[in-house]
Amino acid sequence: VFSVVLVFIYQNSITRFISSDIDMGEESCISRKESVLYRKSSSPYKPSSYLLSKLSTYEKLHEQCGPHTDSYKRSIKQLKSGRIDDNSTDCRYVVWVAEFGLGNRMISITSVFLYALLTDRVLLINQEHDMSNLFCEPFPNTSWILPHDFPFKSKFKKFKQKNHDDKLPSSLFLYLAHEYDHDDKLFFCDQDQALLTKVPWLIIKSSMYFLPSLFLISSFEQELSKLFPDKETVFHHLGRYLFLPSDRVWRLITHYYDDYLAKAEKIIGIQVRIFQDKPSPYVMDQILSCTQKEKLLPEVDTEKPIGSSSPSKNQTDKAVLITSLSPDYYKKMMKMYGQHPTKTGEVVGVYQPSHEGKQRSNNNSHNIQAWVEIYLLSLCDELVTSAQSTFGYVAQGLRGMRPLILYKIDDTKPDPPCGRGISMEPCYHAHPIYNCKAKTTVDTATLVPYVRQCEDISWGIKLF
Ligand code: GDP
Repeated sequence: VFSVVLVFIYQNSITRFISSDIDMGEESCISRKESVLYRKSSSPYKPSSYLLSKLSTYEKLHEQCGPHTDSYKRSIKQLKSGRIDDNSTDCRYVVWVAEFGLGNRMISITSVFLYALLTDRVLLINQEHDMSNLFCEPFPNTSWILPHDFPFKSKFKKFKQKNHDDKLPSSLFLYLAHEYDHDDKLFFCDQDQALLTKVPWLIIKSSMYFLPSLFLISSFEQELSKLFPDKETVFHHLGRYLFLPSDRVWRLITHYYDDYLAKAEKIIGIQVRIFQDKPSPYVMDQILSCTQKEKLLPEVDTEKPIGSSSPSKNQTDKAVLITSLSPDYYKKMMKMYGQHPTKTGEVVGVYQPSHEGKQRSNNNSHNIQAWVEIYLLSLCDELVTSAQSTFGYVAQGLRGMRPLILYKIDDTKPDPPCGRGISMEPCYHAHPIYNCKAKTTVDTATLVPYVRQCEDISWGIKLF
C-alpha cells in the first residue's frame, strides 16, 4: 500500500496530468485520481518541464477565452460580422470537427490541440451526441465543448475540400481528412500559416494524426524541439493529458479489469481490426504464429486433454484481452486453451469485452464501448495491434509501448506475421508530399531525422 501511495504522490507532484484538486464541475473525474492504481508502473517517459509550463499557460488562456466568457462572447460577435476587427481579437480559436471512428477522432483532436498550443489558440470540440460522456473535461474551470448555439454548426456536416477564399475572413474552414486535396494541404506551408495567424476562428475537420507534419513547418521547429525533446512521446503525453475516461466509462473499465484481468500475472492485449468485408482465413494463424514466435503466449499440447498434465491451479498466469468487432478469434483461442494444457504448464485465460459486429461511430454507447476497450488495451503488459488501425494507435500511445504489429494480410500470409513498431507514435496516413518553397514533391520521410515512413503503411509518416 505504501509504495502505491508513494507512486501516487510522485505522479501527482510531477505533473498536473493526474492532479485531482481542481473542481471540474459536476463530473468528478475519478479516473484522474485512480488511473495510476491501474497502471502497473508509472510511465518511464516524463514530460519536459517546458511542456508542463506550456500546458499551464494554455489552461489559463482556455479559462480566460473558454465558452461563455466575455472574450468568447466578443469573439462570437466578430465571427458573425465576418470581418476581422483588430480591437476585439484577444482570443483566437480552433474548432475541431469529427470524421470517422473514435481512434481517428482521438488522434486528430490531439493534432489540433498541438496546433492550438503552437499558435496560442483555444481548442473547442464540436461534440455531437455520439461523443457525449466519453471524456472528462481536460482543462480546469472551463469547458472544451463548443457551445450548441455556435453560429455555423449546421454547416459542419457538409463541408469538404475547397472552402478557400482569397480575402481574410473572421473564420476559415480547413479540411484535413483523408480525401483532402492539394489546396487543403497548403495548410502545412509556412506562408499559409502566416496568413492563418490573422484569422480568429479556424474550423478544422480532421480524421488524421497530421501532427508529424507540424514538425516539418519551419516556424514551429524551435518550439517543438523544446516541447518534445523525445519525439516518440508526443501522443503519449498529450493523449494522457487530454483523454481521461468519464466516470461512467471509468466504472466500466475498472469493473471489467477487476473481474477478469487483475489476477493475471501478465496481460496480453490483442487488437484485431479487419478492414476487408471478407476476413482472410489466415488471420487466426497469423495471430498465433505472432504470439508464439514472440513468446507472448505458450503453445498447447494437443496430445493431452486439459487437466491431464499439471495440477489445476486457481490462478491465471496469463490473461489475453482480445478486442475485435467479431467474436471469431476469441472463440478459437478460448477453445484452444480450454481443450488442451499448455506446453509450459501456464494457465491462459481468454477474454473479449464485446463483439459489436460492425462499426457504428454515430452511436454513443458503441463509442463508449470502443473507448472502454481502447483503455483496457492500454493497461496491458504486452500489445499486439493490427496494421493501419487508429484504434490500436491510441491504445499503444496511451500505454506508452511500441506494439507488435500484425502486418496487413493481402492474398498470402505475411512472413514474418508481425514486427515490433519503430515507435509508439500513431502514423499519419496520407501525409502531404509537397515542398512549399520549391513547389515540387518531396519525400517527406527523409527530411528530418525524427520522421520516418510508417512500418504498417507505405503512404504514411510517423515520429520516432
Ligand atoms: P480504425 O478504423 O481501426 O482506424 O479505428 P477507429 O476507432 O477510427 O474506427 C473503428 C471503429 O470501429 C471504432 O471506433 C469502434 O467504433 C469500432 N471498433 C473497431 N474495432 C473495435 C473493437 O475491437 N472493439 C470495439 N468495441 N469497437 C471496435
